[in-house]
Amino acid sequence: MSSPFDLTGRRALVTGSSRGIGLAIARSLLGAGAQVVIHGRNAEAAETTAAALASEFGAGAVSSAGFDVTDEASVLEGVAGVEAVGPVDILVNNAGLQHREPMLEVSVQDWERVIRTDLTSAFLVGRTVARGMIGRGAGAIVNICSVQTDLARPTIGAYTAAKHGLRGLTRAMTAEWSGSGVRVNGVAPGYIRTELTQALVDDPAFNAWVLGRTPIGRWGEPEDIGGAVVWLSSDASRFVTGQVVFVDGGMTAVV
Ligand code: NDP
Repeated sequence: MSSPFDLTGRRALVTGSSRGIGLAIARSLLGAGAQVVIHGRNAEAAETTAAALASEFGAGAVSSAGFDVTDEASVLEGVAGVEAVGPVDILVNNAGLQHREPMLEVSVQDWERVIRTDLTSAFLVGRTVARGMIGRGAGAIVNICSVQTDLARPTIGAYTAAKHGLRGLTRAMTAEWSGSGVRVNGVAPGYIRTELTQALVDDPAFNAWVLGRTPIGRWGEPEDIGGAVVWLSSDASRFVTGQVVFVDGGMTAVV
């Protein structure tokens, strides 16, 4: 009997998988047997990452796509290109960015850039891919949230608002699509060492705060996130929808 975590025969699109957490998620999905489309805004970077993975997992398992998740025309064209090759069974909305500036100073342009990249993008890519999933009566969407889906810290107001919104979007998608066979869940990473957080890792005071505030006592690694995404993408979670799983070393469990 095959494992309920087995993703053989499923095809996944992971946005923002040219590096960081998205890349580690892609590796986990490939390891579980899925075919994966590596994606970034920069098509060349996505292609380079896909080529490296193809040498490990086989050329048939990996492809790449480049499009801007904040732009509807780019999303429609990019997803159509991906679907021309085959259906998308699993969507991981992972692409995102952070901007650090107090709310009294942040420009409206920077505020809106963060909301658009970290929240509106999941709506745009989500509904574009969901149309096909709903037509086939099956699919799994995983929205990559954050501990800022539940907590707040100074200087990342737009990010916090967007990531709180992503939990609402996960529930709203569940309300509209789960009756059509499309499950929608979130995974909320704690503090993970990537390009996005390198400046924080290098800041001794912030580094000490993360270590003290994380019961497991270390920064997370991108590889820590894939297991939860595989679970939520697979039949092992077939009665789970509308939930956010915190993969944060215990950060949101303690004060
Ligand atoms: P990285 O900065 O390392 O990678 C971001 C990825 O998103 C890149 O592949 C980038 O591709 C892509 N991307 C960004 N903007 C766009 C866009 N407009 N269109 C298409 N692709 C885009 O980030 P992380 O791996 O650290 O973060 C990934 C996700 O995890 C984010 O949603 C982040 O909020 C979340 N997260 C991260 C945590 C951490 O501690 N690192 C903690 C909690 C959540 P390109 O370079 O081509 O633009």
